[in-house]
Amino acid sequence: MTSNTQTAIQPELAIPTFAEIGLHPALLQAVSDTGYTTPTPIQAQALPSVMAGNDVMGAAQTGTGKTAAFTLPILHRLMQHANSSASPARHPVRALILTPTRELADQVAESVKRYGKQTTLRSAVVFGGVDIGPQKEALRNGCEVLIATPGRLLDHVEQRNVNLGQVGILVLDEADRMLDMGFLPDLERIIRLLPAQRQTLLFSATFSNEIRKLGRTYLNSPVEIEVAKRNATADTVTQIAYAMAGDAKRAAVVHLVKSRGLKQVIVFSNTKIGTGRLARQLELDGVRAESIHGDKSQADRMKALDAFKAGELEVLVATDVAARGLDVAGVPCVINYDLPHSAEDYVHRIGRTGRAGAKGEAISLFAPAEEKYLLDIEKLIKAAITRATLQIPGELIARASERPERGSRGEGRSGSERQGDRGSERHARPSRYSAPAKPIDEFFLKPYEPSAAAVAAAAQAPAPTTKKPALLGKRPVGLLLGGVKKP
Ligand code: AMP
Repeated sequence: MTSNTQTAIQPELAIPTFAEIGLHPALLQAVSDTGYTTPTPIQAQALPSVMAGNDVMGAAQTGTGKTAAFTLPILHRLMQHANSSASPARHPVRALILTPTRELADQVAESVKRYGKQTTLRSAVVFGGVDIGPQKEALRNGCEVLIATPGRLLDHVEQRNVNLGQVGILVLDEADRMLDMGFLPDLERIIRLLPAQRQTLLFSATFSNEIRKLGRTYLNSPVEIEVAKRNATADTVTQIAYAMAGDAKRAAVVHLVKSRGLKQVIVFSNTKIGTGRLARQLELDGVRAESIHGDKSQADRMKALDAFKAGELEVLVATDVAARGLDVAGVPCVINYDLPHSAEDYVHRIGRTGRAGAKGEAISLFAPAEEKYLLDIEKLIKAAITRATLQIPGELIARASERPERGSRGEGRSGSERQGDRGSERHARPSRYSAPAKPIDEFFLKPYEPSAAAVAAAAQAPAPTTKKPALLGKRPVGLLLGGVKKP
C-alpha cells in the first residue's frame, strides 16, 4: 500500500461549503434540511477524495461527522445509477457498508435514508438478532446501498438473497472494532465475493498495526485522513476520576444523577450481566434506568435506546459493544462504573459525550484495585485525569448496603459471557463486591441461561471456520496472515 497522507486542514484555510465541494444538488438539499451549514473537518477532507473515486483510510473519533463523510460522497457517486424503475434488477447492490454492531448499522442506515431522501436510490439494512424474513424482502426488492453486519450478510449470501457481484464501493466502518470482535475471517469471505475493481473506504478510531495491515491488504493507494490525534480525547470533555470502595459505586451513581439532575447519562459496565443488574438496582434506588447489552433481544435494545433518546431515562447502562456507535445527541455525561480493561475503550466511551462540539463530562469511579487501569488510560491519552473525592450522603450508602449486589459466585463466567460478542464482555469482573446478606431476587440465584439473542450473537461472531463451508473457497491462509494479495 502506498498512501498519500493528507494532513488536517490548517485552521487558517477556509473550510469549503458543501456546494463548493460540488455535492449533487439533491444531496445539498438533504444536507441543508438536516441543518448542517459547514462540513466538519473530516467531511471537508473525505468528500473530495471519495467523490474522486480514491480509496480512503480515515482515522476519526466518533462524533466528528464521519458517517456523513462517507455516506454523502457515496450517494453522490451513485447518482449516475439512480433510476425510478420498479424492477429489482435495476437496483443492484452498488455500495456495501459493513459495521461491527447492529446499532451502528441501524444508525448508518438512518443517515443514508436521510441524505438520500431526494433521490431514487434505494437502501436496505441487515443485521442479526431479528427476523430474517423482512430483510430478505428488502434485498429482493433491490437496493443500491446495503448496510450490514458481517455475520447476517453471510447468512443472506448463503440463502442467495443478495448478489454482491456489482459492488463498486466497500466501506469498512469502525474497522478496529470489527477486528476486536473477531470478524476478520467473515470480512475476508465477504471481500472475496466482491469485484476486485472497486473503491474501498476504511474508517477506524485508531490506526493500529492490524488496521494498517488490513489497509495494505485491501486498499489501493489510499488517501490517509486523520483529523484528530491518535487516541486523543475531545477537548470539550471534562474528565474526572473519583476513588472509592467498590461497594460505594452504586450510591455514587445515584448521588451524581440526583444531585445534579442529570438526564441521559450513559453508565458503562464491563460485563453484560453486571449491566442488567445495575440498571435494575438503580431503578430500585429511584433512578429511571435501562440496560443494553449483547444478550438482550434486538427489540429490547431498540426500545431502551428509543426511551433514552426520548429523554425518558436518566441512565442507560451499557457494555462497550452495545454502546459502540450510539449517536445520541446531547449526552451530557458518561460514567465509568467499571474502568475498562483496555485503555482504548475509554477513548471510545468518553466519545459518547462532547459530540459535535458540545460540552461533556466523563466521570470514572475507581476502586483501589482498578487504579492500574486508570494509569494505562492516562498513558494512552497522554494526559493526567483529575482525581477527586466524592462526598456521598451516608443514607445512600446505607441504602445500597440494604440491597447489596450479588457476590462474585459465577459472575460473568457463563458460556455465553465467554462467547459474547467481544473480548471485554467475555471476562468476569474482579470480585470486589461483598456477598449479599440475604437474597433479594430469584433472578440472581439462578444459573445463567443464554438468551436466544446471545446464541445468535455467538453464532454471528468468531469461530467461523466451521461455519458456512460453501463460502470458504480454496485459500487456506487468510490474506492478513500472509496469503495471496488482491490482484
Ligand atoms: P458521527 O461522527 O457520524 O457519529 O456524527 C456525529 C454527530 O455530528 C451526528 O449527530 C451528526 O448528525 C452530526 N453532524 C454530522 N455532520 C455535521 C455537520 N456538517 N454539521 C453539524 N453536525 C454534523
